[in-house]
Amino acid sequence: MTHPTPRRRVVLLGATGSIGRQACDVIARFPDRFELVGAVAGSDGAALAAIASRFGVARTALVHSDPRAVLPPGCETGMDAACEIAAMEADVVCVAITGAAAIRPTLAAIDAGGAVATATKEVLVMAGELVKARAAASGARIIPIDSEHSALWQCLRGEDPSSVSRLVLTASGGPFLRRPLETFASITPTEALAHPTWNMGPKVTIDSATMMNKGLEVIEAHFLFDTAYASIDVAIHPTSIVHSWVEFRDGAVVAQMGVPDMRVPIALALADGERLAGVGPHLDLRDVSPLEFLPVDGARFPAVTLARATGERGGLAPCVFNAANEEAVTAFMAGQCRFDEIVPLVAGALAAFDDGDASTLDGVLAADAWARGFVRANTADAMAAR
Ligand code: MG
Repeated sequence: MTHPTPRRRVVLLGATGSIGRQACDVIARFPDRFELVGAVAGSDGAALAAIASRFGVARTALVHSDPRAVLPPGCETGMDAACEIAAMEADVVCVAITGAAAIRPTLAAIDAGGAVATATKEVLVMAGELVKARAAASGARIIPIDSEHSALWQCLRGEDPSSVSRLVLTASGGPFLRRPLETFASITPTEALAHPTWNMGPKVTIDSATMMNKGLEVIEAHFLFDTAYASIDVAIHPTSIVHSWVEFRDGAVVAQMGVPDMRVPIALALADGERLAGVGPHLDLRDVSPLEFLPVDGARFPAVTLARATGERGGLAPCVFNAANEEAVTAFMAGQCRFDEIVPLVAGALAAFDDGDASTLDGVLAADAWARGFVRANTADAMAAR
């Protein structure tokens, strides 16, 4: 007699964003494997209500609600409610909130001590030391959803960590891989939002165009896999078929490949490493050859070098790097700075920053707020000077 596998209870934070919607697709596709028991959204009450009724979700919360918002029945509001849901009894908490706003719910999930599947690289960058210390204290396991880190996790499964010589993150190069450098000043938000291979939310798409995304991912990989920065490299791979690879000390290289589709790493993380049938499209390597790989051009994409130096500096520098970038992306989208000013704004914030205490949430939030203030003041000055 065979017993059915118990359904995994999933809590989804950031349910209405790009990753959250794709996580809902995965849960809907495998109703005998997953049960959505808690869902949190930022401000889209109507979308959260649709998810709540579709999946019969027990607890929901909207972080920012206004009096006119359409809410699911029984929906709670505010950050404290979001953190309570993050700490609910569940088999996996999926963090899909964009940016630094995810810090409190992520820490609440980690303190609860279960499996935390995270797509939010910004939290590991802004507070890597704090997150790792809290996970060590509670016994929580962090499972990556970011496609490159999911790839590395897959390549490293069953391997002795001491046999790894290098992690190599692939990057598509975004929409401006071959655009003449002298035209970067005139890049518009619409142009930067047109990603060639991945369909993602706006923040990560702009980050892909500057390659700040790959910079953030280098720091994310350092914290996820306890790997020194000198052993983390980046390669441009325009078609995003190879999601990343690992070099081992015996000369062997193990890569993970697939048609770009975030539902594959999402399903793998929600199922805690079990491979479910038919999640992503079929890939035949003969259909995608030849695969092209290029070095990163540091003049075109200074973000990767800046990220590496920021990671080596450590302390709260990665927090400033992340916050300054989030604020600069917001300014670019609002027409308050140029595309080619995003990375220099982040570098300026890092140069002006005096370090603080990276081991407490208050220290992290203070550095985050300082960096945002620095970028706002400097974009305002630049606008006034034009
Ligand atoms: Mg990624």
